[in-house]
Amino acid sequence: MAIDPAEALRPKREVPHTGIVMEIRPNCECCNKDLPPEASDAMICTFECTWCTSCVRDCLNGVCPNCGGDMQPRPIRPPSALAKFPASAERVLQPGLHKLV
Ligand SMILES: [Zn+2]
Ligand SMILES: [Zn+2]
Ligand SMILES: [Zn+2]
Repeated sequence: MAIDPAEALRPKREVPHTGIVMEIRPNCECCNKDLPPEASDAMICTFECTWCTSCVRDCLNGVCPNCGGDMQPRPIRPPSALAKFPASAERVLQPGLHKLV
């Protein structure tokens, strides 16, 4: 099914966010790998503890060690929204978690 070009170009409505904005942390808390806002292998828990997919699988067994909750793929914030709500630059790292050499 073809996308109607007029529909595709129509500006999306402003989402009425309430001021609670995801931080989008810049790295994996386990292996310190860079996870830029557009990274497709970033996972977060409900508290936004941030991990890469391989650490979730190999180091954490799918459970966040901070809160005991599960992780979901981090949504990718589109560039237009990033301009308004920039990603966090504050790196969080938990020494001793990473199990791979
Ligand atoms: Zn990692
Ligand atoms: Zn957590
Ligand atoms: Zn790890």
